[in-house]
Amino acid sequence: MNNASPSNQLTRREFLNQTAAGVAAATVVGSALGSSIARAVESSEKIIGIQVGSISFVDEGIEQVLDLLKQRGAVNTVFLTTFTYGRGLGGRQVPGQPFPDHGKQESDEQIFHGGNYATPHPEFYQNTALKQTRAPDHGDLDIVAAVLPAARKRGMKLLCSIEDVFRSDLPGVKEVTEVDLQGRQTGTLCLFHPGVRAFWTGLAADLCTSYDIDGILFFNERNGPLLNALGASHAQSIASSRVTCFCEFHQKAASERGISFDRAREGYRKLDQFVQNALADKRPSDGYFVEFWRLLVEYPEIILWDRLFDEGKHQVLAEVNAAVKSVRKDLQVGFHIEHVNSFNPIFRATRRYDDLAQKADFLKVVVYNNCGGERYAHFIQNVGSTVFRDVPKDELLRFNNHLLDYGTEAALDALPTAGLSPDYVARETKRALAGVQGKCKIYPGIDIGIPTGKNSRKASPDDTYAATFAALKAGAHGVILSRKYSEMRLANLDAAGRAVREALK
Ligand SMILES: [Zn+2]
Repeated sequence: MNNASPSNQLTRREFLNQTAAGVAAATVVGSALGSSIARAVESSEKIIGIQVGSISFVDEGIEQVLDLLKQRGAVNTVFLTTFTYGRGLGGRQVPGQPFPDHGKQESDEQIFHGGNYATPHPEFYQNTALKQTRAPDHGDLDIVAAVLPAARKRGMKLLCSIEDVFRSDLPGVKEVTEVDLQGRQTGTLCLFHPGVRAFWTGLAADLCTSYDIDGILFFNERNGPLLNALGASHAQSIASSRVTCFCEFHQKAASERGISFDRAREGYRKLDQFVQNALADKRPSDGYFVEFWRLLVEYPEIILWDRLFDEGKHQVLAEVNAAVKSVRKDLQVGFHIEHVNSFNPIFRATRRYDDLAQKADFLKVVVYNNCGGERYAHFIQNVGSTVFRDVPKDELLRFNNHLLDYGTEAALDALPTAGLSPDYVARETKRALAGVQGKCKIYPGIDIGIPTGKNSRKASPDDTYAATFAALKAGAHGVILSRKYSEMRLANLDAAGRAVREALK
């Protein structure tokens, strides 16, 4: 564990003394009246949200950050990173990337720990081994209690972002971890473990009960075993020998559904062999695609096991939704829909927007178009190394574009430097709107300064303007500026604000 060094820790008192919100923060639970007025005022507006981690408020000041977001980004809703151990939503700029033009210009690699940046109340965690998750990064500062009254004062909404990214060295994780194909513990949480279910519902209920927030945005970007085996996502390696989950709870869930645990494991071992052979350039006599399809035909348990993972993940979503609504019906629940959903037709087939819409008030659909170029190229490289190894990769990209209804996007070698177009943002927004059939709201996630490779595209303010404008003009109910304020340049934030004001004129 790398605890925060004393020089970087602020006690709650020191921190609150720095901000005018201090007095209000102490009485946060009693501020329901003010917030209901704010809610009424804002209810007719589109949600213009931004994801912000605690470090930005600590580094730059709560009042200052909120004023800046409102004035320059036209932001009316803060998605405050409240629980994560990940660098996508938490911490300063990711190590190795240039700092934006605000905040401390110093890496927090040594002090970032992660966890719950609010105050966990033990009564909500009685049925889970995951009891000690308080983030030590900012001493005893409670970021939700500190930011909420300052947001309310400005008529802004606040939702807590919680993310399924854990550290394997935390107390309790060993008891609820997944087990991979080789029988090893992975350190990630098994979504069929009752203690994991109890943790997520407990956390959501804790936040919604203990603070007068507007709701929860839940992130879980984890893929099932089939995609993990193939590396068929944008940001992962091919890991066919480490697929999950083969623990006792998965075994039990499988047997209740009449799925053979042994056949599934055997199927995944054969898939691992297929993948390893492909990577070693050992072509099956019938070709890569035929051999892959034959595996699925002979071992339908491969698909069933992947589906079981999805079922677990979606049950957690439904349970989090129920836990939040049991606190108060008008609390909003949203799910982050990961980027792979827009690149990968196999993944896309496993997600029904109308089904997801039953479990949420809104979906944050990732349409990150700038980093989307290199991510999409990465996906094509990976699937083009195994299942579609017989297809030249540039042809595979064009074929995939047709499957996904992408318009004119760059060729494979130019994708990382070109990014994806604003048209991609508009199409994916419209697809989501059509998919949910009015049953929930769609807030596309807009890419502002998401880190890319050294030679990949960095979005200009004009790019950010075009993407934000495209999403709103496509009919989105709002947007969420992503991934986090601590990696955004202010000129891009200005451009997003300008697009919002012009699109909503
Ligand atoms: Zn399991």
